Amino acid sequence: MKKAVVIGAGVSGLAAADRLLAEGWEVTVIEARARVGGRLHALEYAPGVPIDLGPEFLHGGAEEVKRLLDSSEVISPSESAKIFWKGNLSEAGNSLNFLDDAMKKLRCLKGEDAPVAELFSRLKLDDFQEAELRSYIEGFNAIDMNHASQCAFQREIAGGADDMEVARLKRGYGSLLPVLSKRWEKNFSLCLEAWVNKIEWEAGSARVHFRAGEEARHVEAPFVLITLPPTILADKNKINLDPELPEHRLAAQALPLGAVHKVVFVLDEPLWDTGDKDLAFLHSPGLIFGTRWIWMVHDKPIFVCWSGGSRAMQLNGLPREEVIRLALADAATSLKITPAELSPKIKQSYYHDWMLDPFSLGAYSYVRLGGLGSRAALAKPVAGTLFFAGEATADDGSAGTVHGALRSGHRAAEEMMEAEARR
Ligand SMILES: Cc1cc2nc3c(=O)[nH]c(=O)nc-3n(C[C@H](O)[C@H](O)[C@H](O)COP(=O)(O)OP(=O)(O)OC[C@H]3O[C@@H](n4cnc5c(N)ncnc54)[C@H](O)[C@@H]3O)c2cc1C
Repeated sequence: MKKAVVIGAGVSGLAAADRLLAEGWEVTVIEARARVGGRLHALEYAPGVPIDLGPEFLHGGAEEVKRLLDSSEVISPSESAKIFWKGNLSEAGNSLNFLDDAMKKLRCLKGEDAPVAELFSRLKLDDFQEAELRSYIEGFNAIDMNHASQCAFQREIAGGADDMEVARLKRGYGSLLPVLSKRWEKNFSLCLEAWVNKIEWEAGSARVHFRAGEEARHVEAPFVLITLPPTILADKNKINLDPELPEHRLAAQALPLGAVHKVVFVLDEPLWDTGDKDLAFLHSPGLIFGTRWIWMVHDKPIFVCWSGGSRAMQLNGLPREEVIRLALADAATSLKITPAELSPKIKQSYYHDWMLDPFSLGAYSYVRLGGLGSRAALAKPVAGTLFFAGEATADDGSAGTVHGALRSGHRAAEEMMEAEARR
């Protein structure tokens, strides 16, 4: 009876599986990719030099993540960052105070729901300040301002989603995966490269259909946890639900994943002096890759170029080489050197196209205008049989983060255990 199928081996699915295994459940995880982690995509340039193509920072405390790791793994914000602003190497100072104040004011504005873009006219900013604030919000939250819900956005930033104080992990987010897989020896099976396309269910049991290579297979269980990104669950052609779940489908359709393009370069020498800090941000609101940061790891400078929101949408569909070329060109512009001068300093480039990735179709979720309440609706269990987790189901301001995904997996595992106890 204590038997569950978990669809998706991202952070939420792995966290739920771990919690269920700890309570003696038998768990099968079905994952479309050839690896676990989902949007947590951690590589290494060399031993101890992490390259995180997905998440990299711990936002808003992220206590759940910290609790799983040894405290020596976490680099706290006060030890690390130095922030440069306006595309030059003078320190941020007043710009950050302005942003902090503007975000506080944004949180407090009241009114009917409207697109996030309409919030700015109510703050009485000059053109330059508005451009800075837009660039900051789009870059950080990866939202499409013309379609994102103002009320949902305000709730989420009040929950700490935009916390500027960010911690990092010494060995990158990859260090989380062994912790989440430590109970896999018993009662556990993992099917990789297994693409779920149909879930047939009735109260008390469900049958999950998937393709593994050319083979069509299925597995049955009394409890099924669905951790698919909402972009996948929204589409009837990708996931056939039988019988249909109209409220969940509608909720998923109201939770798009925003656009992010992140290019990581390993350099042979730092591009600018980070002083006594090992991390420095460089913001240039006018550029497509509006944010860069450099991180010294074992004397290797890791240089990250980040584009989010509507600017990032301009890059959607471009070939990998072109995205990398544009990241390099913007980096050179912001450093007031030519791409030809920057190019020879690059030892290796990394990029993953999250927008075209068929198993995510975007970076992380935001609430579309008209979609208030969608996160809670997506999280709602069905007939004590189907359960839902994933960052997009986090209704407490932690959506779009690793700790939000982790928390949602734990929440869904608890719901399953309660349902099992009631049967
Ligand atoms: C570029 C980028 C940067 C980020 N930066 C940060 C950061 O700094 N800090 C932070 O906290 N968060 C960050 N995030 C967000 C964070 O990575 C996510 O919130 C979190 O990893 C989501 O986990 P999840 O389990 O909800 O979803 P996922 O990781 O997407 O897991 C869902 C799983 O379902 C699988 N799947 C999809 N379709 C199917 C199918 N049909 N059949 C079977 N399996 C399927 C997927 O392959 C995936 O493994 C970032 C994300 C991106 C993309």
